Amino acid sequence: MKILPLLLLLIFSPCTLGDGLPDLGDVSQATLNPMQERQIGQQSMMQIKASKQFLNDPEINDYLNQIGNRLVQFSNEPSLDFEFFAMNDYSVNAFALPGGFVGVNAGLLLITENESELASVLSHEISHVTQHHLARMVSAQKGDTMASMAAIALAILAARSNPDASSAAMAGVQAHAIQKQLDFTRAHEKEADRLGLELMQKAGFDTHAMPEFLGRLQRATRLIDGNAPNYLRTHPITSDRIADIENRVSKQPYRLLPDSLDFDLVRTKLIGAQKTASDAVSYFTDALTTHRHGNPIAQQYGLVRALLRNNQLDRARTELAVLLKQAANTPSAQNNAMLTALEGEVKRAANDPDTLSFYRVAVQNFPQHRALIYDYVDLLLNNKQAETAVKLLTDQITRHPTDTTLYDLQARSYHQLHRPLEQHQAQAYSFAWQGDLHDAIQQLELAKRAGGNFYQLSIIESDLHELRDMQNEQVKK
Ligand SMILES: [Zn+2]
Repeated sequence: MKILPLLLLLIFSPCTLGDGLPDLGDVSQATLNPMQERQIGQQSMMQIKASKQFLNDPEINDYLNQIGNRLVQFSNEPSLDFEFFAMNDYSVNAFALPGGFVGVNAGLLLITENESELASVLSHEISHVTQHHLARMVSAQKGDTMASMAAIALAILAARSNPDASSAAMAGVQAHAIQKQLDFTRAHEKEADRLGLELMQKAGFDTHAMPEFLGRLQRATRLIDGNAPNYLRTHPITSDRIADIENRVSKQPYRLLPDSLDFDLVRTKLIGAQKTASDAVSYFTDALTTHRHGNPIAQQYGLVRALLRNNQLDRARTELAVLLKQAANTPSAQNNAMLTALEGEVKRAANDPDTLSFYRVAVQNFPQHRALIYDYVDLLLNNKQAETAVKLLTDQITRHPTDTTLYDLQARSYHQLHRPLEQHQAQAYSFAWQGDLHDAIQQLELAKRAGGNFYQLSIIESDLHELRDMQNEQVKK
């Protein structure tokens, strides 16, 4: 059995492991190297997850990654590991962190009118990352440590998204230095637009969606009178900027693209989540009976999900049958992972005897759909099948090394297998990725005490070392 030194690999990219750890204090270079950017991004991610703003919905995040990676492959850094994620925030905003982390607010997902508009936002953010814009701003603060640069990166984001609250957000950071950095953004914006359009074009999206989306935001801003969506503050928009984009796309043909079903399902899920369970039931029932504009399969999906939440199991099963029949007759809805995951949820709630075998097949059909994996593993553990669970989880963690739910499930599995070292180690990674260094360290101490072979213990020692360093950095700030 082999355990990877996960945390270490995550924080320092593998290529550097052989030649020693980087000097955290040295940022005298004009720009950061890719590994330093990644590290700032990862530490910022830990803080985002600790803030509970992170929307821990694997279906929404998997969807964003699917659209995002379709664009990334055409960027000038196609091999950079991007992580796209949703924020549980209904204001309109999106942002990029150094090293390939791109956050999208629930509010932004909801006001996009088609998939190309969403792609226009993602491609713009991807270009901020591949052009190292934020890294350039952050690295200008010479003499700072990695942890404080991660704080600066987040403070810049916070200050730009909500200038009124900037004094609180910038605690510990020189406000004037940040203000100066903001002046760079106009040139950055134009560059991100230009490169973003190229990615959209190559990935087959409708480039006209970019000026349409920005124009609509700008018009909405005028109506709201000065109450600009955060997105327009973090990405300053001018008529000049929109004209520039319109000029670029004017010679390109319009592409009439049908949205994927997932685009509608993800948005339906967010609409439902904003409401109480019973309000959501009425909302979707009403949408379906009055034939409200929208995708009826998505509305039916919203209804089943709402019924399930509202503990109306019998009606949920009836409406699910309607949904599955509709989907079977609609080519774009056949073999859909989100519909399959919902079917599984209903089966579980109803204690259907074939639930376990349903999931076994579903996971084979959709091996990368994390929502199905979470549910299947939970079910396996309830049925005392931890060995199978561990195998599935190991594969998923390699693909999603910052996913705390996967670590939580892994810890449960090892607990069942009476393997305390691995159990506490998995728990430690879960805490670490939630930004809870104190509890992560405590879990690693417990893992050490549980005992293991030399290889296992040396990994724990080095992880402990890294976490304590990070903890010290945070204390210094
Ligand atoms: Zn921008």
